[in-house]
Amino acid sequence: MLTGMHIAVIGGDARQLEVIRKLTELDAKISLIGFDQLDHGFTGASKVQIDEVDFSEIDAIVLPIPGTNGEGHVETIFSNEQVVLTEEILRNTPKHCTIFSGISNSYLDNLIKITGRKLIKLFDRDDVAIYNSIPTVEGTIMMVIQHTDTTIHNSNVLVLGLGRVGMSVARAFRALGAHVKVGARKSEHIARISEMGLTPFHLSELEDVAKDIDVCINTIPHPIVTASVLSKMPAHTLIIDLASKPGGTDFRYAEKRGIKAILAPGLPGIVAPKTAGQIVANVLSQLLLELMDETGGD
Ligand code: NAP
Repeated sequence: MLTGMHIAVIGGDARQLEVIRKLTELDAKISLIGFDQLDHGFTGASKVQIDEVDFSEIDAIVLPIPGTNGEGHVETIFSNEQVVLTEEILRNTPKHCTIFSGISNSYLDNLIKITGRKLIKLFDRDDVAIYNSIPTVEGTIMMVIQHTDTTIHNSNVLVLGLGRVGMSVARAFRALGAHVKVGARKSEHIARISEMGLTPFHLSELEDVAKDIDVCINTIPHPIVTASVLSKMPAHTLIIDLASKPGGTDFRYAEKRGIKAILAPGLPGIVAPKTAGQIVANVLSQLLLELMDETGGD
């Protein structure tokens, strides 16, 4: 249980409601900042403005998945309050106060560095990324169905990258009856792709492989689907780019060639916000329980 632990949950979307639900179940004391328009109430959680919080009593701060923007603003879907995470706020927290965020940026990294607080980036963790790949795959299938007039079954699907998302995507499309080729650059990834019963190729061969595909799903956050790759693809190819912004596709050139290319960020939050929230909530609560043990509930 998290009895005695005081947590500030700052901003976020529907996914954060699962986090709040879980933390209240575990008996934490919660200050909700940026939730004043939320109809739902949670026992043990109070809605407050950021300047009403005594941060010297806060053991952990939970930010939304994107963290802050480049100026420290935290997105608040359930409020019009302008919420900014500042150096002053973090300096007021006790030294053991830990900050949790999905991802980080240079603003947040710098704040953490100058204040000496600890930041845990939940999406850096393999467990979160692997669980999160499940709703990502479902969202990808949804997008491919929406944007093609043929079945996935029997289509030629190219998956770029065999990371946590690429592996789940490749397996699911194969299970739906597609002919799946997966591109990677490491020999161990090529070996794994073969072991999975899929067709591997080295990324250096991408231009050649691209000649005969219906759907290309990119998971590599690096310019990979370049103009010269696009120039080899059939015009009917659909590209779903899952990699973090700005994606790995030359969208300008794709449009010029009449190839439909879609950057599709944040699919878990779109197709399954409840599950996506539960994934974060489960890992976060485990980490907070460990933090409670370390600090002895101080
Ligand atoms: P990951 O496990 O780190 O996998 C990334 C893959 O990209 C690896 O196969 C990696 O290969 C490859 N790669 C990286 N840089 C490369 C380069 N310069 N050249 C060739 N290959 C390169 O990441 P992930 O968890 O699968 O996530 C993949 C991307 O999807 C990320 O950008 C993530 O933010 C995004 N994502 C999007 C959604 C969505 O809803 N759209 C959901 C979840 C994640 P090596 O091992 O050889 O480096």
